[in-house]
Amino acid sequence: MPKYDLDKIKFGTNEGTFQKAVDLYESGKIKDFCEGIKSYAATVIGTKPYKVFVEDRRFDYGHCTCYLGQNDTLCKHQIAVAMYAVKQGKPLTDQERKYAARPTWNGKLGKLSADALAGKKREITHALRYIKAYDGPSRTWFAYQDSLDEGCRRLSAIISSLLASEQTADLLVNLLLRLDKKLCNSGIDDSNGTVGGFMESVVLILQEYAKADVNCISTFLPLIGIQTCFGWEESLVKIVEKDRRPHSKDKNGR
Ligand SMILES: [Zn+2]
Repeated sequence: MPKYDLDKIKFGTNEGTFQKAVDLYESGKIKDFCEGIKSYAATVIGTKPYKVFVEDRRFDYGHCTCYLGQNDTLCKHQIAVAMYAVKQGKPLTDQERKYAARPTWNGKLGKLSADALAGKKREITHALRYIKAYDGPSRTWFAYQDSLDEGCRRLSAIISSLLASEQTADLLVNLLLRLDKKLCNSGIDDSNGTVGGFMESVVLILQEYAKADVNCISTFLPLIGIQTCFGWEESLVKIVEKDRRPHSKDKNGR
């Protein structure tokens, strides 16, 4: 079995390439799959048949005879063969196929059980490990940015699975505070704006949560008066202030 799983492939690949690889896999374009020594080989039917090799220790180490592959770029054919190595030709589940490039909310309210909540917290902590300080030489900078991408994609998938409630709003506020601390104090090099953009998406979800359930607003209280790295908290603090303001029209009457 390969040393990666489907999550590793999905979260380590951009959405377009992943979807194209899913299409190749599901339409039976992978032929003559075979296991070699610490690697897999197959022919993938694209514009032409391509010879593809993928290593068993990393899905992004391999080779393909297509134009991209010959230029040392990870292509959809290599992703499709890595997928085949993991799934052995079995159908993908909806969950496996689903790709959350950005965190979204499905519009549903609801509470998680204590166990489920603890599970989500563990998943978040695991995903946060990919959002780490940069301390390598410049040649590993791209690999480092890939790690930030992977972390944000993993977090996006977790968040997109949540129901809105005070409990999950609190979870998201804490996640933002943890990411803010990492960005400000831990030597994260977010020059591509991956983490910042992700945090802005989470703020938008919290705004939606607050509209759908006013109880979520109290979870924004820790954001009042704090200094953050790029002011992402401002719109949430405004929601708290608006919520606290006496409703003057009602008071004075007409
Ligand atoms: Zn290729």
